[in-house]
Amino acid sequence: MQTNLADFIKDTPQGIEAERILRACVHCGFCTATCPTYQLLGDELDGPRGRIYLIKQVLEGREPSESTRMHLDRCLTCRSCESTCPSGVQYGRLVDIGRHVVEARVPRSGAERLTRWVLREFVPRAGLFGLSMKAGRMVRPLLPGALKSKVPNVRPTGQWPAPKRARKWIALAGCAQPSMAPSVNPSAARVLDALGISLQEMPGAGCCGAVRYHLNDQEGGLDDARRNIDAWWPAIAAGEVEGILMTASGCGVQVREYGHMLAGDEAYAEKARRVSEMTQDVSQLVLREAKVLRALLEQRGPGSGERIAFHAPCTLQHGQKIRGVVEGLLAAAGYEVLPVADAHLCCGSAGTYSLLQPELSLQLRDNKLAALGAGGPSRIASANVGCMTHLESGAQVPVVHWIELLDERLA
Ligand code: SF4
Ligand code: SF4
Repeated sequence: MQTNLADFIKDTPQGIEAERILRACVHCGFCTATCPTYQLLGDELDGPRGRIYLIKQVLEGREPSESTRMHLDRCLTCRSCESTCPSGVQYGRLVDIGRHVVEARVPRSGAERLTRWVLREFVPRAGLFGLSMKAGRMVRPLLPGALKSKVPNVRPTGQWPAPKRARKWIALAGCAQPSMAPSVNPSAARVLDALGISLQEMPGAGCCGAVRYHLNDQEGGLDDARRNIDAWWPAIAAGEVEGILMTASGCGVQVREYGHMLAGDEAYAEKARRVSEMTQDVSQLVLREAKVLRALLEQRGPGSGERIAFHAPCTLQHGQKIRGVVEGLLAAAGYEVLPVADAHLCCGSAGTYSLLQPELSLQLRDNKLAALGAGGPSRIASANVGCMTHLESGAQVPVVHWIELLDERLA
């Protein structure tokens, strides 16, 4: 696509990156058919090609309007369009740049600014968020339906194994997961312990930065990244750990971008690159240890054949391009993994999207639950805390992290 970026952005790092991405787009529109918001709304401007065009216009100097911002707000940043695009257009990076420019030029109402401020300041603080979840659970029966669905039930965490293995990995606790799905990391720690690896969470690490970054507080998101790097670096520099493990694919996609996001920060660029390189989703690590896993599963005899529907989060399948790995591991563990129609589509959770765009989010959730439920699963599994709690709010069967299923099988 021909571009002629305006002076305000043309020679900046963002402008150079945006121009490269825009030029890769040949405007073919293949991406449109796989965009969840285009499927719901049927408007070209609510699909990737239309949004790319809107961003191009803004970066070329056209004044954005409230309508421009609305079409960008409606995007889930699910990156399904990236998976479809034959030209490798990095839409996710482009939309971050476009949103940043539009946000600065089209002021939001006081109420919208307040909502976004509360989300930016509240969700990433694990302690505060955890306290509110505790309080929410105490008064759960009294809460209105919409709020009740944001306070999920939690499962017992069980024991975290002592760090006795010579091989060690760092685990990110994150901000929402410890209070919304506290059983996930202990399950991962037990599975990895069985595979000969000790998992440990580092004090001082917290939110991966995705919440702030995608609410257009990009500096705040980078500060979260720097804080995590500081918390992990002593163990990395001392060669004490093999890698950094993500049990929430939404955090994984963000941490794997630290190297890119902090490339211009002299003090952190090299550390961030190394951290991103060392970061893996838990499914990748378990797959690497498949030989040991197979032996353990054989010792435990045949699996239950329980029918499971797996929802692959967008941050796993589109963001990190990890496809089919979890399904293969669950099948190897003796679960019956059911086929799911339109598995590429977002469930509507998308970070804070379910709070900011509730109508679209609920439609996507209900469509996803219908697809997941079609084969009659006894449980739904996923790989990201946001998707899990969002799906659970409307599901007829329990929703778990897939590593909890593997933990059960190895117990
Ligand atoms: S983003 Fe890719 S698929 Fe979509 S219009 Fe551009 S080139 Fe075509
Ligand atoms: S990121 Fe998702 S919602 Fe946004 S344009 Fe791409 S496919 Fe559509």
